[in-house]
Formats: sequence, C-alpha cells, structure tokens
Amino acid sequence: MVSVIVVGGGPAGLSAALFTAKNGLETRVFDTDKTWMHKAHLFNYLGVGSVGGSEFMATARQQVDDFGAERHQDEEVTGVEESDDGFTVTTADGEYDAEYVVLATGANRDLAEELGCETTDDGVVDVDVTMETSVEDCYATGGMVRAEEWQAVISAGDGAAAALNVLTKEKGDHYHDFDTPDTADALFGDLRDDAA
Ligand SMILES: Cc1cc2nc3c(=O)[nH]c(=O)nc-3n(C[C@H](O)[C@H](O)[C@H](O)COP(=O)(O)OP(=O)(O)OC[C@H]3O[C@@H](n4cnc5c(N)ncnc54)[C@H](O)[C@@H]3O)c2cc1C
Repeated sequence: MVSVIVVGGGPAGLSAALFTAKNGLETRVFDTDKTWMHKAHLFNYLGVGSVGGSEFMATARQQVDDFGAERHQDEEVTGVEESDDGFTVTTADGEYDAEYVVLATGANRDLAEELGCETTDDGVVDVDVTMETSVEDCYATGGMVRAEEWQAVISAGDGAAAALNVLTKEKGDHYHDFDTPDTADALFGDLRDDAA
C-alpha cells in the first residue's frame, strides 16, 4: 500500500492525514503536541461558531483516528532523508519508510531545510498551490510556508491541498474527495454526525 508520513499533528498535518487515510493510503502522523492551538480559541474558522483550540484538536484527532490514520503521539521526528523508494523518517523509536512525506511542523523549518527543500527570499519553504516542495513527493504546509499569515483554517487548507495532490498522483488526474447526503449513511454510518 502507498504510504504517507505526516510530520506534525496540528491543523495542517491532521488535515493532510484525514484526506490520505480517508482515501485508502497508509498514513502515519508523528506529533509532539506543541501546537499553538492549545493557546487559541477560534471564532474565525469558517463553519465553526466558537471552539477552544484544544477542544478542536481533540475532535480533529478523533476524526483522523476514525479514518484509520496511525497517530504516533509524542514521538518526535529527528530526521527525514530521501531513500531509493521515497523517504526514511527517523524518530527516537525507530525508522519508518514512506513514498510521500508531508511536513507540518508549524513555523519550524529545520526538517525541510535538512532535506534540501528550497526556500524563498523571505526564508519560508518554497511551494506552489499543491504544497509540493522542490524535493519531489515532499510537501510543506502551514506555518513553515508563510512568513506571518498564520491561521488554523489556512493550515488545514494547506494540508488538504497537499493530500489531494498525493491522491491525484496515485489515483489519477484531479482527484476529488466529494461525498453526498445520499451516500453518507452507507459510507460513514455512525461517523455521520447528523444521522437520523
Ligand atoms: C495565542 C495564539 C492564539 C491564536 N489564535 C488563533 C485564532 O483565534 N484563530 C486562528 O485561526 N489561529 C489562531 N492562532 C494560530 C494557530 O494556532 C496556527 O495558525 C495553527 O496552529 C498553525 O497550524 P500548523 O498545523 O501549521 O502548526 P502547529 O499548530 O504549530 O502544529 C505543528 C505541530 O507539529 C509538531 N511538531 C513540530 N516538530 C515536530 C517534529 N520534529 N516531530 C513531530 N512533531 C513535530 C508540534 O508539536 C505541533 O503539534 C493562534 C496562535 C496563538 C499562538
């Protein structure tokens, strides 16, 4: 199975993991739980009236767990290297291989720089709208790709864009993750929040 490793489990990383796991890719997320969301209370996340940042994270974690992502909470990634088949990710607990890597470490760009991802004149990781870096199949999302415009909804959007590009590469041109009301019960059962 095609595998994806996501480094960082804030809004950017969990959003990427949600899309890849939901669409059948083996997905691992490593996170050290230093997300800024624990300091935030959101009134500006479209579609959500008001929610505490930690409460938002608890729901997001449950959501990616429900879709089958393997979440390695409190396991720090200490290195990412290119390998013959993709990437080797090193943590204190071991090494993991993946075809794709999504970096989502907030404003910390160390891993991207060690991997050789190009940066812009502003010093942020250089990506286009797909969030792919200059290193093929390595994506950068969230705080690390913007100088200051940091918002949760932007990070979540970055993660989704990265995941959709991975899915497009694996499943065909311009992949869409579209669900509709008439298939929601059959597909998602108890996961459907408003099930009658
Ligand atoms: C006080 C405050 C209030 C805020 N209020 C709002 C608000 O009202 N609305 C809003 O939209 N935004 C708000 N924000 C900003 C919002 O929190 C960020 O935009 C958002 O958290 C960025 O998401 P991210 O996924 O890019 O990075 P982060 O949320 O920072 O997540 C990065 C994750 O990666 C992990 N990580 C880093 N390095 C490694 C590694 N080597 N291995 C494993 N894991 C690693 C970190 O522990 C962290 O959990 C606020 C921020 C602060 C500080």
